[in-house]
Amino acid sequence: TKWVYAFGGGDSEGEASMRELLGGKGANLAEMAKLGLPVPPGFTITTSACNAYYDGGKQWPGGLNEQVETALAKLEGVTGKAFGDPKNPLLVSVRSGARASMPGMMDTVLNLGLNDETAEGLAQLSGDRRFAYDSYRRFIQMYSDVVLDLDHSMFEEILETFKEENDFTLDTELSAEDWEEIVRDYKAAAAKALGREFPSDPREQLWGAIGAVFASWMNDRARTYRRLHDIPASWGTAVNVQAMVFGNMGETSATGVAFTRDPSTGENAFYGEFLVNAQGEDVVAGIRTPQCLTQEMREKMGDKAPSMQEAMPDSYNELAEVFSRLERHYRDMQDIEFTVERGRLWMLQTRNGKRTAKAALKIAVDMAKEGLISEEEAILRVDPAQLDQLLHPMIDDSATRDVLATGLPASPGAAAGVVVFDSDEAETMAGHGEKVILVRIETSPEDIHGMHAAQGIVTARGGMTSHAAVVARGMGRPCVSGAGSIKISYADKSFTVGGRTVRQGDFITIDGATGEVLMGAVPMIKPELTGDFAALMVWADKARRMKVRTNAETPADVQTAKEFGAEGIGLCRTEHMFFDADRIAAVREMILSEDRAGRVAALAKILPMQRQDFEEIFTIMEERPCTIRLLDPPLHEFLPHTEEDVDAVSKATGLSARALMERAAGLSETNPMLGHRGCRLGITYPEIYEMQARAIFEAQVNVQKKTGVRPVAEVMIPLVAMAKELSILKARIEGVAKAVEKESGTAPVYVIGTMIELPRAALRADEIAAEAEFFSFGTNDLTQTTFGLSRDDAGKFLGDYIEAGIFEKDPFVTLDQSGVGDLVRIAAERGRSARPGLKLGICGEHGGDPASIAFCDSVGLDYVSCSPYRVPIARLAAAQSAL
Ligand code: PEP
Ligand code: MG
Repeated sequence: TKWVYAFGGGDSEGEASMRELLGGKGANLAEMAKLGLPVPPGFTITTSACNAYYDGGKQWPGGLNEQVETALAKLEGVTGKAFGDPKNPLLVSVRSGARASMPGMMDTVLNLGLNDETAEGLAQLSGDRRFAYDSYRRFIQMYSDVVLDLDHSMFEEILETFKEENDFTLDTELSAEDWEEIVRDYKAAAAKALGREFPSDPREQLWGAIGAVFASWMNDRARTYRRLHDIPASWGTAVNVQAMVFGNMGETSATGVAFTRDPSTGENAFYGEFLVNAQGEDVVAGIRTPQCLTQEMREKMGDKAPSMQEAMPDSYNELAEVFSRLERHYRDMQDIEFTVERGRLWMLQTRNGKRTAKAALKIAVDMAKEGLISEEEAILRVDPAQLDQLLHPMIDDSATRDVLATGLPASPGAAAGVVVFDSDEAETMAGHGEKVILVRIETSPEDIHGMHAAQGIVTARGGMTSHAAVVARGMGRPCVSGAGSIKISYADKSFTVGGRTVRQGDFITIDGATGEVLMGAVPMIKPELTGDFAALMVWADKARRMKVRTNAETPADVQTAKEFGAEGIGLCRTEHMFFDADRIAAVREMILSEDRAGRVAALAKILPMQRQDFEEIFTIMEERPCTIRLLDPPLHEFLPHTEEDVDAVSKATGLSARALMERAAGLSETNPMLGHRGCRLGITYPEIYEMQARAIFEAQVNVQKKTGVRPVAEVMIPLVAMAKELSILKARIEGVAKAVEKESGTAPVYVIGTMIELPRAALRADEIAAEAEFFSFGTNDLTQTTFGLSRDDAGKFLGDYIEAGIFEKDPFVTLDQSGVGDLVRIAAERGRSARPGLKLGICGEHGGDPASIAFCDSVGLDYVSCSPYRVPIARLAAAQSAL
């Protein structure tokens, strides 16, 4: 097996497409070398070698040693130096490099190959003793830390003590002799901690570092990261061994990191930082303040120190050229590391740069307009889920901000809600329609359901990569992490900050873009959907086959969805309209009536209100189709809770409170989701559905008369299992339509269809399609009934199922394509076999989930329907699946 691939010195055994074998870093180094860019030569040990190492019980795979020796010899040839040669030492860096970039892995060992003899050689050769011994002490420190696992504070203490004793404040004040002394102290300290000498044999050092990279693939941090990001352990990591170049060889040397475009705004301008006379880790470590890469950036930031463009114009210009070349070559924004050694530029890394949602959008659209990529590629470049961040409301600029605390801007968007401290409670409260903000000291995988239920998340502890931050970003929930000034008491259900106390149930607002936590519910504005966003949506709309509708019932939501591009309503849940303050009393009256006459009287009160709702919706949607679902939930959901409520109903109906309570008790069910709900209510109480049908048709006729547009109503019957249920109810609805036509002289425009949300309905879809003009897959209930898994309670243990690997994802979020998906496929086929033009859609939550949308496309659904804010996500996802 070939375990080792060389690059540099004019040729390259690998290339960018070999990412799986060489890891991201190794593949791109090979590619750059192939392009003829200045890359320090080196070699990559493959990810297969890492896997073979683990498969073989942590033994070096056969042949690896020989191949590394061959590659080393080649490297010596190319560089004209020799590993361990005191006169002309070859020094190398050793870095890990998995297929996907992975924080938590061993990062880098620099200057490997140094010992007392080669350090002296480096001093002679460079003519700079100080540089040589500074490099040597850095090597000892780094190698001890990442390979030998020694506590790095012991080296810091040695250096601090030395500086104190000699009245130094800055590292730059130390002379070559001082560093030599430090090196002796470091080695002594390391030997004491190790119980043996610090390794001075370069080959021993090299194998130690390679082993450390392999070992870091299985450390706790790497494992956690992999679990959170669905990265399989079987990918393994590669190891990159590369000749050292030095950014710390004086004032004509430097090192830096850069992006070819601004990773936070997407602006087409180089963006980066560099440090003169420094080595790579100095930029990241934040010990010295880096300088700006370009003059423009320096001026914008009001920085005094000269930019690289000004301080090293030749190297900068060469770098700028490399940037353009890399962008043209990779046709994407690049994230780059470079070093200048005595005026000579070297490229150490390039990769597609990570970017915010805003930047992703701008870069994709700009690149398409620049002709670098096609419109189709631009569509594929933006992650629909990431788009979510741009679609959330932001805090109104003119609003007053009563800032309670500031943490890290961990996930963008603003959210307001009442404070809740416990994930189970967050879920329960959200289930009752409350908007909540989950406030935790920190979150763990046990909080996923609470985070999901919450509008936003605040943690007192944890950074930008804490569990809360990573998970919230993934879910598209705004999040402020590490708001350390907040003191949370779970016992008191409150937090204190700056002398103020905020209790569970109090309103707060969070701004995930600034990291601010604000008192009260602060006014917000809708996101801007113009410019790049609009451009991408136009391209997406051209590319997609499926239509996108929305699940909405309030005029405000319907309006929002229309602005987001909804092409119709896929689900108007009429029961949500029953809860409104102006009618809930009449609804209760209807439910608690003892006979049909009482119900009819109460329904007559509800009719005009419901008709008004539909008029508003039809007026907004104009001729776009509106699927209106008749009453679905079990009636007891509407029952009065308080004595006051009972009194009100008692007055209206003339029934005693006691009689009402008895009737209410009679409605309670052991298993309400499988109970008297959906079309079963229509069968028992046909007058309810007739009232609703009348409200729909009258509204339609009224709007038609008033505006001249002809609204299209799709009347939808929920929870059908048998064709007969549908045929009975259909006849009733048609009767109402005829009556309305007769009364008004205008014919309503409508079709009647059904939801497919029970396995039996899916299996007998041909019979049902004989009665239904359309199907809409209610995959929330279909998931619930297929798995026999309560959609309301499963959150309690779904985490365990995901942890145990039984579920890959929450099946209520991402459609279970094999099981539930089979039923959808069967229903689509059988339905269309009975009625070829049968219109098919989905209105379960899955209609807004990109992976599920691709599935819907593959089974030939005509449209997906989702909540208003997900409409653009669905448009993009539908386009991606069509491409
Ligand atoms: C469904 O079951 O998927 C659906 C859309 O209906 P609801 O969520 O209202 O039960
Ligand atoms: Mg349902």
